[in-house]
Amino acid sequence: MKVDTIRTNWAESELKQNTHIITVGDKCIIVDAGAKLEDVLDVVGDKKVEAILITHAHFDHISNIDAYEIAFGCPIYMNENSKKFLHDTNLNASKYFVGDIIFDAENIHYLKGKETLNIAGLEIKPIYTPGHSEDSMCYLCSDSSVLNNDELIEQRVGAKQDISNIEQRSVLFTGDTCFARAVGRTDLATGNPKRLIVSLNSLLKLDFVTAYTGHMRHTTKTEQQDNIPTWVKYIKKHLLNIDDDK
Ligand SMILES: [Zn+2]
Repeated sequence: MKVDTIRTNWAESELKQNTHIITVGDKCIIVDAGAKLEDVLDVVGDKKVEAILITHAHFDHISNIDAYEIAFGCPIYMNENSKKFLHDTNLNASKYFVGDIIFDAENIHYLKGKETLNIAGLEIKPIYTPGHSEDSMCYLCSDSSVLNNDELIEQRVGAKQDISNIEQRSVLFTGDTCFARAVGRTDLATGNPKRLIVSLNSLLKLDFVTAYTGHMRHTTKTEQQDNIPTWVKYIKKHLLNIDDDK
């Protein structure tokens, strides 16, 4: 599987949203819907889009979902709690950043986070990771036809080598749950720092090398093994008033 990322500015913000396109042979899967349709079509070309996976229904991750639904006519997957975000500008946060936006997409399969999906030859495990929002999902995508992660790591020349362009057995899409050197904010509607801590710790138990995030550059499991504990400690101390060092 190959992953392309389109980074899109929303409003006047510098905080670009990442829309990812997974390509397997002549098929594609799109993760999130922030990029303009024309930019997605440039990457997709004449390949067939089999599904759209939504990490959460904050407006910047679904801003072009209605256009994608019409253009690709494929199923859209999102968490069962996302349903109410589509028509609620407080929950989808558009109200605070760009003005009220609601979304009309209908061909949606709502997930609990316990399913296994088989799409475009990949095994996809949606993982429910609330905290940044009540509907946050991560997606672990595995391609059994390529090297497993241990074999891949053995082949790497050095720890800092960029492996993003090498075929990988499993990659994680994190949405806004974690980033390269940060974690998701919890101050928007339905954000919850306690639940975010549980979700972040659960990501460290998954088998992946690269994680593709909802903003900023992609990251690795190795990097998250430092990043997540640092931020869990920060959230406990500053948001929950729990100081592990005392
Ligand atoms: Zn978000």
